[in-house]
Amino acid sequence: MDMNKSLNLATIISRGRIINENPPKYRTEFQRDRDRIIHSSAFRRLEYKTQVFINHEGDLFRTRLTHSLEVAQVGRSVATALHLNVDLVEAICLAHDLGHTPFGHVGQDELNRKLIHSGFEGFEHNLQSLRIVDKLEERYAQFDGLNLTFETREGILKHCSLKKAQELGDIGVRFTENKQPSLESQLANIADELAYNYHDVDDGLRAGLITLEQLQEVSIIKRQLETVLSNYPKLSGRRLHKELVRGLIGITIYDLIENTNKNIEKYEIRNDSEVRNAPQIVQYSPQMYQAQRELKKFLHKNLYKHHTVMQLRFKATNIIGALFDAYMSDELLLPEQFRLKVITDGLARVVTDYISGMTDRYAFRQYNKLFTVERV
Ligand code: MG
Repeated sequence: MDMNKSLNLATIISRGRIINENPPKYRTEFQRDRDRIIHSSAFRRLEYKTQVFINHEGDLFRTRLTHSLEVAQVGRSVATALHLNVDLVEAICLAHDLGHTPFGHVGQDELNRKLIHSGFEGFEHNLQSLRIVDKLEERYAQFDGLNLTFETREGILKHCSLKKAQELGDIGVRFTENKQPSLESQLANIADELAYNYHDVDDGLRAGLITLEQLQEVSIIKRQLETVLSNYPKLSGRRLHKELVRGLIGITIYDLIENTNKNIEKYEIRNDSEVRNAPQIVQYSPQMYQAQRELKKFLHKNLYKHHTVMQLRFKATNIIGALFDAYMSDELLLPEQFRLKVITDGLARVVTDYISGMTDRYAFRQYNKLFTVERV
């Protein structure tokens, strides 16, 4: 009985791709999606895009590439334990940040502000991720984009306005009908949050922007620190910090697995259509949910608003804003392959695709070309 139930959840027959293709010979459909994502240009560019810290500030800090790999790792572990479709979770996790602008959220905020201010639709990185996999990647003879399965594309579209959902057709239906996405999509979403909360703690400690003393304001961290120190009373420095973060990730993942299993039982989830009509199934226990909120609040107050981070954000905002204004003022400043698309896509769309596709260092370089007197 138990086995049948698990088997049903892991077996997903794909609703297919936008352009029909022969099934892969030696891979599953979702493994094919994953492989296409890994080989895409947008995926490689994640190496030089910021998470919270500008990546040239230190080689050991996370970039969006290492973040995406960590999200996929958390996703795979939890999916395996819950008997979900591991390949699908992995594909969604690896693709989830493809549409991010340079300089993390501050880049997205500024691009969004500029677009709205100029009378256009704003910028949303989930929609941009979808645009990349559906249209912008140019690698295949037969189609634009990566021609991924419905399931991976639906998972990439994490949030979406009702208006946009209507325009997007089948993958927008869950928003217009107010239903849940697949368990794999729900998991990718939580794995993302779990990974960045704890790696921000890790990177924040390493950068000296937050301290272990400060972190004890957060109850789950205080408790975990006590556990580590009762097992290893002499532990200190780097190893204490690493052991702490490792333990936190472990207890959080355990909670997620156990509570989700409870929900699967409670709501008698046996197949995809039951998933869609139920409440959110992949979820922490209420206690862990609270603990994660508390941690987030701490990070907002103490890390994301730290003056060192704020200075970088200020600089990044100015760069994105200045690049947007420059390209919008004269399309001849755009590289030819982008300029040629202005006729079909419109200038604002092309400028948005160009800027959001930049890595941090590419954006710095373009800014220097346009605005710095000493540099050409
Ligand atoms: Mg992410």
